[in-house]
Amino acid sequence: MAQKRKASKKKPAAKRPQRKRPTKEKITPVEEILFRVEGKMSTFGGPRDTGMSADEGLALFTPVDLQNPKYSYLFLPTSPPGTTGLGRRLNPDKYYFACRWNYNDTPREFLKRALARVENPSNGRSADARPADWGPHISTGRVADLSPGLAAALGLQTDDVVRITISALRAIPVKPAKGAKRAAPVSRTAPPGKPIIKQFIRSPNCSCRKVGTKIDKIVLHCTEGSLASALAEFQRSDSRKVSAHYVIDRNGDIYQMVNDADCANHCMGANPGSIGIEHVGGETDALAAPQAAASAALIRWLLQEHQIPRTNIFGHDFTPGYSRPGGTSCPDKLFGPVHSQATIAAWVAANV
Ligand SMILES: [Zn+2]
Repeated sequence: MAQKRKASKKKPAAKRPQRKRPTKEKITPVEEILFRVEGKMSTFGGPRDTGMSADEGLALFTPVDLQNPKYSYLFLPTSPPGTTGLGRRLNPDKYYFACRWNYNDTPREFLKRALARVENPSNGRSADARPADWGPHISTGRVADLSPGLAAALGLQTDDVVRITISALRAIPVKPAKGAKRAAPVSRTAPPGKPIIKQFIRSPNCSCRKVGTKIDKIVLHCTEGSLASALAEFQRSDSRKVSAHYVIDRNGDIYQMVNDADCANHCMGANPGSIGIEHVGGETDALAAPQAAASAALIRWLLQEHQIPRTNIFGHDFTPGYSRPGGTSCPDKLFGPVHSQATIAAWVAANV
């Protein structure tokens, strides 16, 4: 909107033992285990981990990820004094961990999207956590390093036994790695389906696309206001006559207001060939996690459905053809703290 202004474990071979087997529970769906490991653990990361050097990085993250709300929460706002690496900048209270990944079976991009179940078998406690690094070294005799906060939450102390599982049910589909032996489940190869639309609320502020106009770009917006105010404004025909094809609430609910085949009024000068997606948020908000997931799913479907190049996903202010004098602050800080197309592109690369 805003038209106005480190290291060990037993054997790596123990990973993914029960791949194609249903879980023992009768009612739960078949769970394809993509990664599983059980063995001793330790902790790592954060300002006080002097076992990491001041400039040590992480296998799965780079500084650009600090601008992605999906990952930035794992890190402290600034580097601890005297350090430059992401390892020491990890927020030890957040839930992350490291294992000795085989990137053929679990590629980096897959791991960046995965959420693992981390369990303490001795007391039954469990929590979800994100893969962050490769390690510990095999010479430690441990299989995983956890964040101090995760270890504390599970009641784990160094050299206690931990169990870590990543299943297909918990992971966002990605392309299987080249050479991966495991057959890809259907969900990883089938074209993405259209996400569920909670409600279609027709906006009068639209027009037919001219014959022959190809939909070739997606424009991302911030409502700079509540869901209710956006839905209300897009239904008014006596005001600014603005609209968008989709509005995604903070909780991930997707509302549609204009058919894709029609032209919505969301990005002056670039409406004819674009699809507009509004995200409910204030000027300083980042995307909420369920909202980000819904947006990524919708974008994946739109790319496929209309054969839109992945490079043609723009923030409102950065859309080619956008011609409103003075520009706009939209999409604000939804996709990262810097108002730039590079921020949008980094978010797309990491999430879509
Ligand atoms: Zn906008």
